[in-house]
Amino acid sequence: MTGDPEGKQGHQARSPAARAGLGAPVDALSGGHRTDLHLAEGERYLPSARATPREARPLSEWESRPRILVTNDDGIESRGLLVLKQALESIGDVHVMAPDTNQSAVGHGMTFMRPLRVRERTLIDGLPGWSVDGSPTDAVSLAFLGYFGMSFDLVASGINYGSNLGDDVTYSGTVGAAMEAVLSGCPAFAISQQVEGEPDFALAGHMAKLVATNILENGLGAGELLNVNVPARSLATYTGVEVTRMGKRVYQDQLLERLDPRGTPYYWFGGPPPTGLAEPGTDFHAVLNGKVAITPIQLDLTARRLLKRLADWHWDLPLPGGPADER
Ligand code: MN
Repeated sequence: MTGDPEGKQGHQARSPAARAGLGAPVDALSGGHRTDLHLAEGERYLPSARATPREARPLSEWESRPRILVTNDDGIESRGLLVLKQALESIGDVHVMAPDTNQSAVGHGMTFMRPLRVRERTLIDGLPGWSVDGSPTDAVSLAFLGYFGMSFDLVASGINYGSNLGDDVTYSGTVGAAMEAVLSGCPAFAISQQVEGEPDFALAGHMAKLVATNILENGLGAGELLNVNVPARSLATYTGVEVTRMGKRVYQDQLLERLDPRGTPYYWFGGPPPTGLAEPGTDFHAVLNGKVAITPIQLDLTARRLLKRLADWHWDLPLPGGPADER
């Protein structure tokens, strides 16, 4: 793929589908979005900055530093976000765009029913960052739809306060942000810190840099991302890195009913914290044993085994007034 360091041509380049040899998108499948909205004076569509990532190769061969977008779901003031930013500044030029408040467990949600406000902030290190009053996916979308006027080579999401293991991935805003990057054609990873007491993000910071370097040098395929879980261990006591599959969470949620001051019931999701099945080869097993779990995730959620079985089911609608269905 030819490089486009400024990303300015991204919106004019061939679509990701065309680049993947999948043919042109079909307008009839556009989902009902109107593309002919009238723009009033002073309004404009920003030039898109959907990713035109540069070719994966050793960092020593990059003609300029990789452009890295850092985000999270815990919010712009989270310490894990700052650790991630500082870890990646040694290998690339980092921009931070993150939710202004804690958006944990919003998954891949995106804001459509109200406008978004972006604020330039001064981060704890004295450098600028940007916050949005929306979700992690909103933050990533703002970046790839042109907020910064540039595209990115990598998106890093985290470092989340707490693990995102197994089925957590389906709730996680941390992973949701990485999914949005992948949909925009940019490689991405999510990184989460197991919390036991006050977290020390030192190991996670080093792992973030290692993971980022690996992705930039080796590349990810279309629709692929990495979900990284770091155990509550130090650099001295962690026991290694393991490439894992998603394990099985065991949720223990209970519905807590309370009464408001007017006597009307309201509800909290509560109960004990979730556990998980620590089968060998899973993210749970690795983290339980003091290892960093690297889990490859893909956006194609198709159930392959079921796909085959469904071919043997009956799919003929009974004709109205026809013979009764005998099955
Ligand atoms: Mn979170």
